[in-house]
Amino acid sequence: MNRKVLKIPKKVSAFGYEFDVILREDLENDNSAQGLAKFKSKQILIESSLDYSQQVSTLIHEIIEVGNEYLELGLEHKAICGLESVLHQALTTGRNPLIRVNK
Ligand SMILES: [Zn+2]
Repeated sequence: MNRKVLKIPKKVSAFGYEFDVILREDLENDNSAQGLAKFKSKQILIESSLDYSQQVSTLIHEIIEVGNEYLELGLEHKAICGLESVLHQALTTGRNPLIRVNK
């Protein structure tokens, strides 16, 4: 059986900036979070112990955080989490999903 190794991208572009996407162990211990967007250093950190589907969800979350910051939307964190959830479901489920999270 040919199994594809699924990996999140090493970089994502937003608003003309390139963010390095870095998988990091023990992010949850430092920040009690599964992901973190760092605007000065243009980094998105993602907890490496998460499964791939959760990593994708966390990346979506952090991209929304980036949009919230640059567009000065002032979204409450609850709204960001809700958008993460609906986008993750819409992009990863169904017969022919845009993002495959299952091998
Ligand atoms: Zn957040």
